[in-house]
Amino acid sequence: MLLEIEGLNSHYGRIHALKSASLTVREGELVALVGANGAGKTTLLRTLSGVHPASSGRITFDGCDITRMKASRRVAEGVVQVPEGRQLFGPQSVEDNLRLGAYRRGSGKPDDDIDRLYEMFPVLKVKRDQPAGTLSGGQQQIVALGRALMAKPRLLLLDEPSMGLAPLLVAEIFDAVQRLKREGTTILLVEQNAHAALAIADRGYVIETGEIVLSDSGAALLSNERVRQAYLGL
Ligand code: ATP
Repeated sequence: MLLEIEGLNSHYGRIHALKSASLTVREGELVALVGANGAGKTTLLRTLSGVHPASSGRITFDGCDITRMKASRRVAEGVVQVPEGRQLFGPQSVEDNLRLGAYRRGSGKPDDDIDRLYEMFPVLKVKRDQPAGTLSGGQQQIVALGRALMAKPRLLLLDEPSMGLAPLLVAEIFDAVQRLKREGTTILLVEQNAHAALAIADRGYVIETGEIVLSDSGAALLSNERVRQAYLGL
């Protein structure tokens, strides 16, 4: 097991945003966490990456208890998040944005990694010298994914990569996420777009008002009556 979250609680003042959540991710798996707006998906990711403190519970990453570890150390350990809303440096070129991803890593050969990224996502190579801010939303999301990959994640956390994108671009992003998985990246994908996320996930969890209420294989959740009614509009 690469990641094991057990009985995790998280608060914003008196708001109990995450209620005894438990979730696991194995090496090489693509796991989706789906739920409505405000269900607590982002809170789970923020608590996992260390930017928001856990009230109680335990997070174990590769056998180490990281529950109280500083966010920056978790990144160094390989827990890397692509934030919601991408947060690129708009005036900087695509390639500069990608290189910034290697900054925390400190070692290795960024040039080789950039070449590999250009192979995986040719659009990045085409646009390498353009200011990132001039790219379309979908292309910017791919830059954000690429930047996170430059940090050599052992666990990649994706927060709503399809947010604000037109349907065609959503398909492109989920295709990119699948490609990452095929290349061996372990991924925890947080999405409101339950259908697209569960369709590519090995396993999924459903979160409602801070509580994980269902977990199963992606395929089983897609055909689950409760999921179909509440999240797929079927
Ligand atoms: P979204 O898809 O909108 O990001 P979400 O499932 O990620 O939704 P969270 O953002 O984790 O949900 O929010 C969970 C709960 O915590 C909500 O009730 C929200 O109002 C509350 N919350 C989130 N951030 C804060 C904050 N900074 N201060 C107070 N309450 C917050």
